Amino acid sequence: MNFSYTSIASCSHTKARAGIFHTPHGIVETPKFMPVGTVGTVKGITPAQLKDAHAQMILGNTYHLHIRPGEDIVKKAGGLHGFMNWEQPILTDSGGFQVFSLAQMRKISEEGVKFRSPKDGKIINMTPEHSIHIQNALGADVIMAFDECPPATATREEVITATERTYRWLKRCMDAHQKPDQQALFGIVQGGIFQDLRNQAAHDLTQLDLPGYAIGGVSVGEKPELIHEIVRQTTPLLPVHKPRYLMGVGTYKEMVIAIASGIDLFDCVIPTRVGRHGAALVQGERWNLKNARFKEDFTPLDPECSCYTCQNFSRAYLNHLLRAHEMLGYILISLHNIHEMINFTNKIRASIINDTFLDEFGHWL
Ligand SMILES: [Zn+2]
Repeated sequence: MNFSYTSIASCSHTKARAGIFHTPHGIVETPKFMPVGTVGTVKGITPAQLKDAHAQMILGNTYHLHIRPGEDIVKKAGGLHGFMNWEQPILTDSGGFQVFSLAQMRKISEEGVKFRSPKDGKIINMTPEHSIHIQNALGADVIMAFDECPPATATREEVITATERTYRWLKRCMDAHQKPDQQALFGIVQGGIFQDLRNQAAHDLTQLDLPGYAIGGVSVGEKPELIHEIVRQTTPLLPVHKPRYLMGVGTYKEMVIAIASGIDLFDCVIPTRVGRHGAALVQGERWNLKNARFKEDFTPLDPECSCYTCQNFSRAYLNHLLRAHEMLGYILISLHNIHEMINFTNKIRASIINDTFLDEFGHWL
């Protein structure tokens, strides 16, 4: 068995758990934040720096990699691991979320989704089979089922249609999957803001005995309180001996709430996206380092952080780099932000093992 999840500790007050997810490219110690490498790079960060930041599993994006450079080139390079020189675990999403949120002129049918390539305007027919074919070529350790992710504004009827279709598409993904021994296919629980639909989806997916499960459609614009409640109620319905992944979520508060509900894996573009705009994630807060108050502040970004940025540079220097639009400024801040979010989940993991999770992180709940 190339994939397994072992629970090593659980919190006595909440559903938080610490575990180890085994994959063909190594382990993922959970709970864990996973940096997003959309087009085969975590923007501005080298694989060596990712390793220093204690990244274990990183994400690639099927939609973006299919459009550019195309999965054939990635496959010829030895898969995504070889192409981007990342030897540790990788997860690719199905492309569904991007097709539904980014693509122009899309047309959804039972077969799949037709849309225009933003690169050359050609019509792309993304189906469950096509998504899995691309993901098999990319070669990530974890691949995601192609699902229909309805917007936050969808009606109950629309969500029912999407959730039922997601289930039929999942079965087609399972049939199309060529490498189940090398790549674990995770199913995605949809159901929008309707808990009864989430319950039904979780129940149906669990029957299929997949190697892992995700909760999707929770970062599409709903109210935070609603999301927290859905995560609280849906997570415990997923099997205890399989990894559980909350898609597109990775802020401090959201991760603590989800971990307390039993989630193991997170991904989010925030650390690098805000880093590119000069915002640093520091001890639970978001700081705009372009702000004049940092102009003559010669202390490290976060004196308690062990990352390369905080060990070597002052807030004043980062402020200067950003004001001068120097590339290094964005890189150093992204580097710290990635380190910070991974370290945050590592500290939570240690607290679960010591059974001090509620004492140390309860103020976020
Ligand atoms: Zn730092």
